[in-house]
Amino acid sequence: MAITGSIGGAAWLGASRARALGRDEPSSIIDCHLHINHRNRSLEDTIKHMDATGTNQAFILPLETGEGGVVLKSDAVLEAHRQYPDRIIPFCQCDVRKSDSLDRIRRYRELGFRGFGEQKEHVPFGDRRIENLISLCDELDWPILVHFQDGKKGYNQGMAEHLEAYLKRYQRVRIIGHAQTWWANISAEVPPPEETLYPIGPVKPGGLLDRLLGKYPNLYADLSAGSGYRALTRDEDYTAGFFERHWKQLLFGTDCPCWDGRGGSGRDDKPRGVCYTTRLKDCLRKMIRDESVLKAVFHDNAKRVLESDV
Ligand SMILES: [Zn+2]
Ligand SMILES: [Zn+2]
Repeated sequence: MAITGSIGGAAWLGASRARALGRDEPSSIIDCHLHINHRNRSLEDTIKHMDATGTNQAFILPLETGEGGVVLKSDAVLEAHRQYPDRIIPFCQCDVRKSDSLDRIRRYRELGFRGFGEQKEHVPFGDRRIENLISLCDELDWPILVHFQDGKKGYNQGMAEHLEAYLKRYQRVRIIGHAQTWWANISAEVPPPEETLYPIGPVKPGGLLDRLLGKYPNLYADLSAGSGYRALTRDEDYTAGFFERHWKQLLFGTDCPCWDGRGGSGRDDKPRGVCYTTRLKDCLRKMIRDESVLKAVFHDNAKRVLESDV
């Protein structure tokens, strides 16, 4: 099988060789945001996508309740990890509205899960049950990846009002921010969500992300999906400074739904659309000249996020 990839090491050595090299291959890529069954992709095709894009490992994120349109169970992620232990870093997720959710998360930890997410339910971020979840992740010394999307049909609404209070209170949990509202706050000017979730044009300095990332080292930014890519490319001069200030807290992530690393989604092998992984890799390589910074964003920061002292 032909392997392509612009990053050295495991990326172009092929899956079996990459596995043999182990998870600590220094120049490999860790994707902090991947699901399995986007566009009905199988586990095998997900691994093929990782091979085709030079992705050595990925945080695989379940979406238990499927409120965003895709259902992926934590058990399926664990099973996938058992099949591909060197490629798949299993995260768990469960419905925070269920009374046994915290007990389930404790059991998940015993089973070998490494973090929580993607947290994506129609529950406001300031809800007591979300705080209980963050508190438990803090106790477990875990990362939690949160989809922030304000608006009527949003998820974890109210990030701007509540995130700092959690960061002050819980300093061990690594909170990884993702999605439209998270990235809209790269600017000090955030349009109301009913106007647009994807603001464009120059960034107004002094945004919430800049302030919170500067103040709280346990806050991380997930660069995945259209929201991450659009935010990084809307004002490249601003982004250069943003990288300089916060590179230790930026995580390469894709949320890519394609099958083949070329935007295709099926066995007919016709490319359609873009591959988020390839697009973001190219974008970062263009914008970040310092190889050690690139390595941190592609790999080392994700490793640090997973480290637990408990
Ligand atoms: Zn996702
Ligand atoms: Zn792709």
